[in-house]
Amino acid sequence: MKKQKILAIALASVILIFSLSSCKADRFDIDAAKYNYPSLVSGDGWESTMDVDFASITSMEELNKNYWYSVKHGLRKYEYWCPDMIDFSSSDGLVIHSVQSENHVCTDELCPLNGVFTGGIDSRDPTTGEGFYQAFGYFEVEVKVPTGDGMWSAFWLQSTNTGRIGKKGMDGSEIDVYESSFKNSSTPNSLGNAIHYDAYDWPFYQSHGAVSTTENNPYDGEFHTYGLLWTPKEYVFYMDGKPYYATKFGGVAKIAEYLRLTVEIRTGVQGPYSQDIGEFSNDFGAANDFVIKSVKVYQKDEYKSEIKTLDDMGWSFLDWAYRLFKK
Ligand SMILES: [Zn+2]
Repeated sequence: MKKQKILAIALASVILIFSLSSCKADRFDIDAAKYNYPSLVSGDGWESTMDVDFASITSMEELNKNYWYSVKHGLRKYEYWCPDMIDFSSSDGLVIHSVQSENHVCTDELCPLNGVFTGGIDSRDPTTGEGFYQAFGYFEVEVKVPTGDGMWSAFWLQSTNTGRIGKKGMDGSEIDVYESSFKNSSTPNSLGNAIHYDAYDWPFYQSHGAVSTTENNPYDGEFHTYGLLWTPKEYVFYMDGKPYYATKFGGVAKIAEYLRLTVEIRTGVQGPYSQDIGEFSNDFGAANDFVIKSVKVYQKDEYKSEIKTLDDMGWSFLDWAYRLFKK
């Protein structure tokens, strides 16, 4: 290892130790009156920026016209993400099926014959990078989460800058608006929320997750709404219009991000919060389906002046050191 590299790592480690974020910012006694939805977004200064009714969308082409795209085709972890798993024929909404198959032949021939197949949608075209991005506002989906064992659906926001280091996630954080993977766990009736930043790579990567018990049961086979109020100062998470968890972890992201609705599958291993997620099986049938009815996004006038670009964030020594190390 070059001396220059060793020096960069040593300095980066010292800076990192002094810059580690505290988790004390979490607030669980949320002022429901202050954060009440829908009175929140119908108030002064709010405007609608996205309103998609997925039940009315009948083709991939129409989906793309609404700034939604199939997620990147191919192997995710254990499962494959395949556009052929998206079904436009239901009057309930967009359905993402999950199956185990020994004879899977997909349109682009990017999947093997044998495997576990599911999918998802992004508001960013994985090929061109074009799409719908927003910093701050209120983001809400109405979905029916899959309830079969081994299933893990999520609504999350992602940044194209999450791989950058040293700005406490203000330059880009993964924001998990909800993760539904507790049906088979010791704490059913729960949702997970997490913030991740700085490259998912030791020793820089930072994340903070929380599991909350919700008033309504996400796994009752019914439609529910899941929301995020992202202000320049905090993230507040909602189920069925009621706030249940908030955090300021990191420094709160300031740059526009894209939206993701995805399904992951695990079988016989732990879920994202070290919980028992169960064994995936085709026998669960329609319970494995993820049904997406709508996505609504709003922006508030007063947040707009707080939106930053990557240039606004400036140079980061840690990012420079990280890139040097990765070479
Ligand atoms: Zn495929």
